[in-house]
Amino acid sequence: MYSQKVMDHFTNPRNVGEIETPDGVGEVGNAKCGDIMKIYLKVEENVITDVKFKTYGCGSAIASSSMATEMIKGKTVEEALNLTNKAVAEALDGLPPVKMHCSVLAEQAIKKALQDYARKNNLDIPGLTDIEIDDDHDHHEEIED
Ligand SMILES: [Zn+2]
Repeated sequence: MYSQKVMDHFTNPRNVGEIETPDGVGEVGNAKCGDIMKIYLKVEENVITDVKFKTYGCGSAIASSSMATEMIKGKTVEEALNLTNKAVAEALDGLPPVKMHCSVLAEQAIKKALQDYARKNNLDIPGLTDIEIDDDHDHHEEIED
C-alpha cells in the first residue's frame, strides 16, 4: 500500500525536533485522522537555513512532513511557498488517495510558518498574504447537528 520512500521517511524521518528560536512556526491539524503537524523555520537572508518538525499522526503525515522539510531546506522563501502537496506526494512515489490530505497538511504547515515569519518581520511576501488555510480545528465548533 505504501511506497518504499513513504516507509523510509516514516521509519526514519528527517528533521524531527524543534528549533529553539525559530523565525517562523506553523501548526495545522486535520480531523480526518487526527494528525497535528508543527513546523519550525530558521530563515537567513530569505533562505530557509534550517527546518524541523513535530508531527503526531499517521505514517503518511510523518512521511510527508519529513519529505517536505527536506524539500524546502536551503531553498528561498518563495521556493518554499511554491511547494505543493502534490510535489511532496510525488517525491514520496505517491500516497494512497485516502491519505493525500496528510500531504496537504505539510504544505499548509509550511505556509503557516512562512506567514508567521512574514508577520514577525513585517515582510510583504508576494502570494503569501492571500493564502487561505483551511484549518479543520477551527471548524469543529461550527458543526452542529
Ligand atoms: Zn493522516
